[in-house]
Amino acid sequence: MSIERTLSIIKPDATRRNLTGLINAKFEDAGLKIIGQKRLQLTRTMAEKFYEIHKDRPFYNDLVDFMISGPVVVQVLEGENAVKSNRAVMGSTNPDEANEGTIRKEFAESIEANSVHGSDSLENANIEISFFFANIELVA
Ligand code: ADP
Ligand code: MG
Repeated sequence: MSIERTLSIIKPDATRRNLTGLINAKFEDAGLKIIGQKRLQLTRTMAEKFYEIHKDRPFYNDLVDFMISGPVVVQVLEGENAVKSNRAVMGSTNPDEANEGTIRKEFAESIEANSVHGSDSLENANIEISFFFANIELVA
């Protein structure tokens, strides 16, 4: 077991429905501490860069359009095995396949508008955290 940090994004479908607090409660109930957080309107350039790894996937352009369709809340979560633990709280990408009690099961609208992003590895977490945050903004 080790203390990790991971990047989370509350997506525009969730900010639009005023779900930030309910989603944050899920993280805190799971023992994840929100050590940095800000609400942003992503530019197209930022969203394209953030999801560059998916640029050859058929859903890439729609995903970028969705991610800039309203505000997002970017946040850093800290805790034991935070990367895996956050992925467990999020649930499967497709909400129809997500476990009961997960964020995506309870709140996602579709496989695209699925309420949250979470880093998929510690290496990507470090890259994604530095995409949005300076060290001085992270206070454990
Ligand atoms: P995850 O967010 O669970 O790590 P991926 O990294 O595979 O999932 O995909 C990134 C995001 O792209 C998803 O969260 C979702 O918003 C969108 N997405 C993934 N697969 C599809 C799909 N088949 N159709 C539409 N959007 C998708
Ligand atoms: Mg992913």
